[in-house]
Amino acid sequence: MLPHKAPALGCPARRRGVTVASASLGLLGSPRVRGDRRCRAGARPTGARVSGDVRIPTRPRGLRCRAMDLHALTRLVRPFRFLILLLCCLIIHHSCFQIHPQCWKRRVKMAVETVVPAKANPAKLGPAANEKDAEKLRFIEEMTTNADAVQEKVLAEILARNAETEYLRRYGLGGVTDRATFKAKVPVVTYEDLQSEIQRIANGDRSAILSAHPISEFLTSSGTSAGERKLMPTIKEELDRRQLLYSLLMPVMNLYVPGLDKGKGLYFLFVKSETKTPGGLKARPVLTSYYKSEHFKSRPYDPYNVYTSPTAAILCADAFQSMYAQMLCGLLQRHDVLRVGAVFASGLLRAIRFLQLHWQELSQDIAAGALTVKITDPSVRAVVSELLKPDPELARLIAVECSKGDWAGIITRIWPNTKYLDVIVTGAMAQYIPTLEYYSEGLPMACTMYASSECYFGLNLKPMCDPSEVSYTIMPNMAYFEFLPHGDCGDGQSHRPGRDKAQLVDLADVEVGKEYELVITTYAGLNRYRVGDILRVSGFYNAAPQFRFVRRKNVLLSIESDKTDESELQKAVETASALLRPYAANVVEYTSHADTKAIPGHYVIYWELLAKDKSASAAEAVGALARDEVMERCCLAMEEALNSVYRQSRVADGSIGPLEIRVVRGGTFEELMDYAISRGASINQYKVPRCVSFPPILELLDSRVVSAHFSPALPRWSPHRSGN
Ligand code: AMP
Repeated sequence: MLPHKAPALGCPARRRGVTVASASLGLLGSPRVRGDRRCRAGARPTGARVSGDVRIPTRPRGLRCRAMDLHALTRLVRPFRFLILLLCCLIIHHSCFQIHPQCWKRRVKMAVETVVPAKANPAKLGPAANEKDAEKLRFIEEMTTNADAVQEKVLAEILARNAETEYLRRYGLGGVTDRATFKAKVPVVTYEDLQSEIQRIANGDRSAILSAHPISEFLTSSGTSAGERKLMPTIKEELDRRQLLYSLLMPVMNLYVPGLDKGKGLYFLFVKSETKTPGGLKARPVLTSYYKSEHFKSRPYDPYNVYTSPTAAILCADAFQSMYAQMLCGLLQRHDVLRVGAVFASGLLRAIRFLQLHWQELSQDIAAGALTVKITDPSVRAVVSELLKPDPELARLIAVECSKGDWAGIITRIWPNTKYLDVIVTGAMAQYIPTLEYYSEGLPMACTMYASSECYFGLNLKPMCDPSEVSYTIMPNMAYFEFLPHGDCGDGQSHRPGRDKAQLVDLADVEVGKEYELVITTYAGLNRYRVGDILRVSGFYNAAPQFRFVRRKNVLLSIESDKTDESELQKAVETASALLRPYAANVVEYTSHADTKAIPGHYVIYWELLAKDKSASAAEAVGALARDEVMERCCLAMEEALNSVYRQSRVADGSIGPLEIRVVRGGTFEELMDYAISRGASINQYKVPRCVSFPPILELLDSRVVSAHFSPALPRWSPHRSGN
């Protein structure tokens, strides 16, 4: 199925007395296993039987005795046969069990050492829960031990297969696959640099523009360009690579949390809307693509990965029905649930909010054993109805727990066997840690992986560590990774191709403590592409660096997957403030804050207004604006001006609440500056922060609020890209 060539390397390696696993650097995991088996069957060296990993010498064919000699010898020794037998027994017993016990042990150890090179110690991460896990842990060991060699091989593979693409030919690579030539000739790029190629592919050009393998679909990133989601090209085999990374997560988790095969995971997973590009390619988020793939739908049963959510509920496109069904199934199986999660922390909090809003309906369904008519999707109805039997006791428990005013510890009260929360709380999601702690009574939060639409990067080898300690180990088989040093050149945001090219550092060469921007070259045709994530090296596992996620470059506000940068906010404020003109008022200063105290969170924009009519006081101006609900219209105008991910979160997902403008009294921003200067800011260099989260500053701003206004309606949003 896969055009991947790595397994073929395995056979000669075994002939040299090294396991295929260790020598082949099989970059896609499972195909390597298939290759391993083929090798066992087909490449057996003459004169040796292969038993497991240890070779047992067999009798050489040339030493066959002739029948005549054997007959004469038998006649000669027959009278002494009992004596000879006794002697043999004594010798065997003595040599095996009394004289050389150490020698036997040493021989076995030597056999193992020739099979598994000492530097890839499979038990280093800890004792695996089972043989399948052991194989995955060995894979992690191999990849991280040989990080640099794997990277070299990945780059050579990518460049060889894409040698004839328009993109690589443009830079005159001429089929060369070494790092030095690649780095010298191919520029470091951003999405905007690739936009014309991407647009051609989207419009239906099927020639090998970026990738020799056909682009199978576009993955729509939550990162935006000109207000629209970025379109990331992908190829079919990338699904295997993503699946491989997923397959490593449980073996690592099982090292820390035993018994996860004795219960289930309550995960709130969703698909989102998808569209087609003018050329007919699907465009959808990476997780939607994964959940709709056979990799997910037809996954084999794995006792460590049993979900309470039926696949039909996960695949239901209607967000309400999907959530309702997943929550109901989670409630019905409450005693089986050992872990509760969603992809990001914001997703899990949305589920809690859903329970707050709908527990009465859910408990009614459970009491009656009948599903609400609101669930109309036939496949969802079918799977949920099968599970749903009248259970008045459970219905009562849900009602009792949810009707208490206090929701502290609701997760552990409803799902008492939960051992940990499985959610990403690094990066922008860190703002949700206190809320999750409140709802779960301090359950550990496991951040298991680091990934994006462009490529899945790596995993956390210590998933039960404190969120502040989370480091991700980038798996060197996923793509070719380079790192642009960040911070030592001002804000690190300048994009000067010549200089960037010279500066990039390879995965194995990054330095502990330094910050870098991630740059990737993928199998799907992104070459030296700047992801926009800033990472800090926290250490190494074997030869593979581990990274703390520092932040996403340029992101000012984020509630869920939305990412609003400073220029988008500026544009939105300008658009909205135009509505003030007829009232002789304008915005003199503004700042913003992502308010996540309530679920869903929402953007708060602080405005200081100036009345142009000197005779009118600020209060009078605000009064006139209030009469005509101008400020509310400004809120909506701001929302309309924000990017499509923000608007989708507002409209389709309901994961962001209405935008709020808080008008502060005149002089507030001067006070803000005074406060900053009192804390050591330079008066010459002071700039109004366009986003604030420091509690004393928020307190100052909130204490000066004159009026607060919310967006009265949903902004416009359509799944179709405005550019198409
Ligand atoms: P998307 O392009 O929508 O797939 O979003 C990918 C981005 O989400 C990454 O580039 C990161 O900025 C962010 N992200 C993904 N995983 C993590 C993580 N484990 N911790 C922090 N941020 C993450």
